[in-house]
Amino acid sequence: MKAAAFDYVRPATLREACGYLADGDGEARIIAGGQSLVPLMAMRLVRPRLLVDINDVAELTGIARDGSEVVVGAATRQADAGRSGIVVDDVPLLALALPFVGHDQTRNRGTVGGSLAHADPSAEIGLVAAALGATMTASDGETDRRIDAADFFQAPMTTTLEPGECLTAVRFPVWPGAGRVGAGFQEVSARDSDFAIVAAAAQLALDRDGVCRRAAVAVANAAPTPVRLLRIEEALIGQRPDNENIERLLPLMDEAIEPSTDLHAGADARRHMARSLTLRAILQAAANAAREP
Ligand SMILES: Cc1cc2nc3c(=O)[nH]c(=O)nc-3n(C[C@H](O)[C@H](O)[C@H](O)COP(=O)(O)OP(=O)(O)OC[C@H]3O[C@@H](n4cnc5c(N)ncnc54)[C@H](O)[C@@H]3O)c2cc1C
Repeated sequence: MKAAAFDYVRPATLREACGYLADGDGEARIIAGGQSLVPLMAMRLVRPRLLVDINDVAELTGIARDGSEVVVGAATRQADAGRSGIVVDDVPLLALALPFVGHDQTRNRGTVGGSLAHADPSAEIGLVAAALGATMTASDGETDRRIDAADFFQAPMTTTLEPGECLTAVRFPVWPGAGRVGAGFQEVSARDSDFAIVAAAAQLALDRDGVCRRAAVAVANAAPTPVRLLRIEEALIGQRPDNENIERLLPLMDEAIEPSTDLHAGADARRHMARSLTLRAILQAAANAAREP
């Protein structure tokens, strides 16, 4: 099918872009990489009257260290984020997850902010943001606000962004001085690079004795939004993250997740995947942390 007719603008500033969104009366949509929006339009599942293309808004692109955070501009290409030395060094979990997001071709166009705003429950970038407790920044052109990842994702394809707001950046916390930091990312998908049936992400900081001092653990597609496993994180602190210790903690995820059944997997299979992928992601994070000098 072809998309329904729409108008198209390509502003050069954030203020201008937000002006178009405000004037659009709920019928205007941002287009970033177009990797999710264009298929939805082609299937006529969405019919925006106006597309506001943010690809020329320079202030939305770039990756920088800002104190104890790494700031990734919303319109930064996923491929650029994956190649960034800052991301590799300071947000190892994001670096590990990005190759799982679609294919080279989609990552060359798709943006970090587009994936977050789209809020697919299986999305890897949203999972990393939830696990690390990232902060989104949004603007309506006049006022900026910050939204914790825990409050950002509301339901499948639904966030707390207002219709006139543009996601401007995502701020990932860096763990300086937390010890030796390592990340783990695991997912099951029908084919390589397909959307995750279930995915798990973990980042650990270990001390010199291999004891966990800080933990971030979350799962995707085991509930309508990515779920941070806070009880497992807390229970990991002070433990050596070996197979036996982690297996003992896995039941703690049961009340946090809400797996559903679809044509890819039943709820019970998803629950089983969430447990085993979480175990593997934590073990991988521990092994990677132990390799740090
Ligand atoms: C073949 C294929 C495979 C894929 N596989 C995966 C996968 O495995 N995992 C995965 O996570 N994704 C996957 N995707 C989706 C891909 O990652 C998209 O890039 C991403 O979901 C959306 O990013 P985008 O920049 O293309 O956004 P767009 O498609 O341009 O926009 C998506 C939505 O976000 C809104 N939006 C975009 N930017 C902003 C902003 N700054 N502020 C407010 N709203 C905004 C748009 O209005 C729209 O509603 C796949 C896509 C394809 C085509």
